[in-house]
Amino acid sequence: MDYDTYGSNAVELAIDLANADRAADPDWAVAFLRAHDEWFTPETALELSPAETRRAAATSDLVRAVAVAGTQDDVIARLNELLALARPHPYATDHDGELHLHYARPDASALEQLTTTVAMGLSQVVAQHGWQRLGVCSAEGCDDVYVDTSRNASRRYCSNTCASRSTVAAYRARRKA
Ligand SMILES: [Zn+2]
Ligand SMILES: [Zn+2]
Repeated sequence: MDYDTYGSNAVELAIDLANADRAADPDWAVAFLRAHDEWFTPETALELSPAETRRAAATSDLVRAVAVAGTQDDVIARLNELLALARPHPYATDHDGELHLHYARPDASALEQLTTTVAMGLSQVVAQHGWQRLGVCSAEGCDDVYVDTSRNASRRYCSNTCASRSTVAAYRARRKA
């Protein structure tokens, strides 16, 4: 599977948004924008009003809802809720040296760029590669979501950290038994 496209990278932005730690910091959304500033046109103000922060949280919830959905009907319904928030206006650019497409208007607000990029990136990967590529981490105590880009679709954990933590735990459990 070739994930080396803008849309496939955009799904990582969606996953990061779904896994953002919102409880710890009331300004989590601005911190998230700053940590992912390569996704926004350079002149974009990376600021959000409280109302916009709530909308970013709703987008985060919807990405998670798509990832945890257990049936295709549910995936489609959640994806369409997410896509209803998007304001796609694709354009071509080579700002990084490579000709590629962006999904949101370059002069859109940070929230509009975020929502649109996340909705389009997630939808594109689900439509091309199947919703089973999205999942929730199997590690105990972790409920982060992931997108599985492995060739044989065998991923079960959000990160290498969770994978090795679980391997160690399973080994200890076997030794005890
Ligand atoms: Zn770009
Ligand atoms: Zn995890």
